[in-house]
Amino acid sequence: DAVVHWFKCDLRTKDNKALDTASETAKEKGVPLVAMYIVSPQDFEAHLTAPVRVDFILRTLEVLKEELAMLDIPLYVETVEKRKTIPDRIMELLKEWNARHLFANLEYEVDELRREAELVRSCLENGVAFDVMADTCIVSPGELTSGTGKQYSVYTPWFRAWIAYIHEHNDVLDLFGPPSKNPSSARKRFSKIFDSKIPSAPSNKKITDEEKTRFKSMWPPGEAEAHSRLSKFLDDRARKYDETRNFPFAATTSCLSAHFAAGTLSTRTAVRAARSYNSTTKLNGGNQGLQTWISEVAWRDFYRHVLAHWPYVCMNKPFKPEYTNITWEYNDEHFAAWCSGQTGYPIVDAAMRQLNHCGYMHNRCRMIAASFLAKHLLLDWRMGERYFMEHLVDGDFASNNGGWGFSASTGVDPQPYFRIFNPLLQSERFDKEGEYIRKWVPELRGVGGNAIHDPYERGAGREAKKGGYPERIVRHKESRERCLARYKEGLGRG
Ligand code: FAD
Repeated sequence: DAVVHWFKCDLRTKDNKALDTASETAKEKGVPLVAMYIVSPQDFEAHLTAPVRVDFILRTLEVLKEELAMLDIPLYVETVEKRKTIPDRIMELLKEWNARHLFANLEYEVDELRREAELVRSCLENGVAFDVMADTCIVSPGELTSGTGKQYSVYTPWFRAWIAYIHEHNDVLDLFGPPSKNPSSARKRFSKIFDSKIPSAPSNKKITDEEKTRFKSMWPPGEAEAHSRLSKFLDDRARKYDETRNFPFAATTSCLSAHFAAGTLSTRTAVRAARSYNSTTKLNGGNQGLQTWISEVAWRDFYRHVLAHWPYVCMNKPFKPEYTNITWEYNDEHFAAWCSGQTGYPIVDAAMRQLNHCGYMHNRCRMIAASFLAKHLLLDWRMGERYFMEHLVDGDFASNNGGWGFSASTGVDPQPYFRIFNPLLQSERFDKEGEYIRKWVPELRGVGGNAIHDPYERGAGREAKKGGYPERIVRHKESRERCLARYKEGLGRG
């Protein structure tokens, strides 16, 4: 007999509810624990998983395999080409390992829920127990409802309820232990799995050797790395996070999002750790920086609650149906300029180039770039949502969809559509000295002073042109007016 844990977006040994429960069950039964991960190229395709993220996941699996091997737990990784066959393949593997109990953590996206429903059916037919646990949110979707019993669609009251719930149910922050060591016989019985290799990236997600080297140094994988990043952030930066987090040049945020997305770190661990650095156990008390950071981590839960309650957001629909009728421009040249960071708006271009180079973009810049696409270029926000997903190392459907909904005013808890970011003011405010711009837009390195934010209009056109920097593809004032009119017209038709 054996017990199996199926790893998905929870690639860690510590503070992993399903893994811990699987381990306890195996121990009680006196049988070994086997861990499994399925690489699904079709899922990567359907979910637009960025190659940089696939690379990060595969490198993480290498580390995880070694960590589990130290506990005599084998990690089996297989590429299954057709995603429809995943439930059947899992049943075959369970049979091969003579396993009667499967564990996994729940994912809330629609495709994943359908796959799990299929697997539940197969397990029932085959006499296998399947335990799916709610682990990915600190407070599970469905736990928080407003006074009228409804799901919150606005963050602030939801956040108040989230905090109150955690204070009332302190055990939601309890730590799940790492799995116990397997009986030593597991080594012999599963020797083939111990000797097996992590597959290389599927052909649809390959990266070049240069990218491999770059991403390897930018995004070291693994749980220990995530924990050391967390400690460093809490030691050095967290206390000032409220004042510094919006400035994209300095390293002021935690840069943990890739780890939360791969599951090398749980948000539970992150919040517990932040709390332990504070002078109070209250999550909304004590140091302002720590409080603000916790409230940002909570956004991740918030967007999962939204997704779980309104699953149609997974199907390319705006949260608010009346926003379906906006007439978008489908201007390929504008879209190409936005993607490659050639819009003539330095802050937008710096942001897009950071994304293209690192698979990461600072949060303030995500808002500026997303708003620019939807409002200044009037391009369908779903094109931008897709591009982000295809390039982010931290691509997370719920957070990305939520961020785009916010920025395009089509989502839950939106910016009102008439509040349009002025990219120049944003640039002057958050990259005052132009350091972020100069880092990512080398054509403008020679441009000094305030002209960095808008070189052609502020007397630095010659330098900008010499460097090969493009002129603005749209003008702010006209774009703003066009946007207001178009949104108004679309809503009128709703
Ligand atoms: P920190 O500032 O250190 O915050 C800590 C953690 O809190 C983050 O790692 C993240 O898990 C969470 N968090 C912070 N802000 C948000 C937020 N607004 N929404 C949800 N979670 C948040 N985040 C993703 O993880 N994946 C995405 O695909 C993603 N797409 C986005 C798209 C748009 C248009 C916007 C505006 C935001 C998006 N975000 C996304 C949220 C946010 O930009 C990133 O989480 C953040 O920049 C990651 O950097 P960090 O780890 O240094 O964050």
